[in-house]
Amino acid sequence: MERSERAEDLLEAVWIAVVEEGDNSASFEALNVKADDAALLDLERKALVEIKGERVYLRSEGRLAGEKVVRRHRLAERLMMDILDLKGSNANAKACEFEHLLNEGVDTRICTLLNHPTTCPHGRPIPPGECCRAARRAADIGVVPLTEMKVGQEGEIAYLATSDAKKMQKLMSLGVLPGNRVRLNRRFPSFIFHVGNSEFAVDEQLAREIFIRTGKSE
Ligand SMILES: [Zn+2]
Ligand SMILES: [Zn+2]
Repeated sequence: MERSERAEDLLEAVWIAVVEEGDNSASFEALNVKADDAALLDLERKALVEIKGERVYLRSEGRLAGEKVVRRHRLAERLMMDILDLKGSNANAKACEFEHLLNEGVDTRICTLLNHPTTCPHGRPIPPGECCRAARRAADIGVVPLTEMKVGQEGEIAYLATSDAKKMQKLMSLGVLPGNRVRLNRRFPSFIFHVGNSEFAVDEQLAREIFIRTGKSE
């Protein structure tokens, strides 16, 4: 479905007004359009928006299409800022040109390159794509309780979930802290593991409450 750049910019403006700012529609005045605007009529013909009087309403197809345009725009901004080091109003103008060049597939590669950013440089949310959801699932799978590690396996402490505050404080004061490397040495009769140069022994109940990022989905 080919749309002109101007049609995409208009769709983006309507999407932001309705989805992000919570208005029920966008006025011709706010969009700076007239009733005979070719790009606007194109959006209406493609059933992305509905025009009533001097207001533009977003249809459900337009909601999906608009989200993709916004995603591309904000990814383009991130790319400008993070990789190309362009800032200021110049960057926004460039991002506007650039977003139209990011078709599906390219936006996935850029999103992955930037490690699936969640906000644009202005702090506005970037609507997540399938790549972001897949990355999040993979990250979740990589975190397991200590009890699921194999003997000899290493990882990084992700977080402690213990309900026993005293035990948790004890562990943390000894260096069992998120971010530290851990290696499991034995599973029986208790869970024995190394953090740094210290060795710890915990029972299974406590071991179940120490979560490790193994970096592998196994
Ligand atoms: Zn932005
Ligand atoms: Zn992504």
